[in-house]
Amino acid sequence: MIRLENVTKTFGTGASALIELTLAIEKGEFVFVVGPSGSGKTTLLRLLIHDMVPTTGSIFLGDLDITKIPNSKIPHLRKRIGVVFQDLKMLMDRTIFENIMLPLEMANLDQKAAKEQVSKILEQVGIGEHKDKFPVQLSGGELQRAAIARALVFSPEILLADEPTGNLDATTSWEIVKLLQDINALGTTVVMATHNTDVVNSLLKRVITLEKGSLKKDEKPKSHSEKKEKETVKPEGVLK
Ligand code: ADP
Ligand code: MG
Repeated sequence: MIRLENVTKTFGTGASALIELTLAIEKGEFVFVVGPSGSGKTTLLRLLIHDMVPTTGSIFLGDLDITKIPNSKIPHLRKRIGVVFQDLKMLMDRTIFENIMLPLEMANLDQKAAKEQVSKILEQVGIGEHKDKFPVQLSGGELQRAAIARALVFSPEILLADEPTGNLDATTSWEIVKLLQDINALGTTVVMATHNTDVVNSLLKRVITLEKGSLKKDEKPKSHSEKKEKETVKPEGVLK
């Protein structure tokens, strides 16, 4: 559903963040994007939401080349692709509920329907009881959940998360990854950029590795059977 073809992004400074990157992500996948700092992870996510355009190359969402869409179509694209950036971009003078309501208000959605949607999403991400608090009153993990909730308000097909566990302790990191997996299990394609090798190595997910803006590795998810081969053999059928 997402296809990058020979995407290069060079900045005015002459720095190239991505070089001739070609890859595809299918509907329903859960993909980790890993690589050292400066390898192009954030640039990749920003290109996918048309926050910037590639210097050369094409990016397709389905049949649509998003590098060619007019500015008037960007809001529609952002409804199809939700994103959580590293700095979360929460408005500090608004409550969690109001922060998550904001994109719906800007899209002129009916107030009653919008409020119902916000309440539903807050419950889904597990912070319903914090809805009337301000961002400073939440923990790092709760704030991350709030930002994920805001990225989900339009029920996007794809959720992008940029280092969502970057500032969290190990336990909270796992809770956030579990939440992203639950969201994925409901049908949303999830792309998570991360440094967190514990998380990446423990899960049987596809891992795209970038190095200096190029694709270094693209490892398909290991199947449970491949993993189990290395574990103690259990009698067939016991789990059924
Ligand atoms: P990552 O998220 O993997 O750390 P980035 O995508 O942020 O990597 O950055 C990739 C490279 O592009 C880095 O060398 C970075 O300095 C450069 N870069 C990113 N954004 C800009 C920008 N707006 N202007 C100039 N260089 C940039
Ligand atoms: Mg980054």
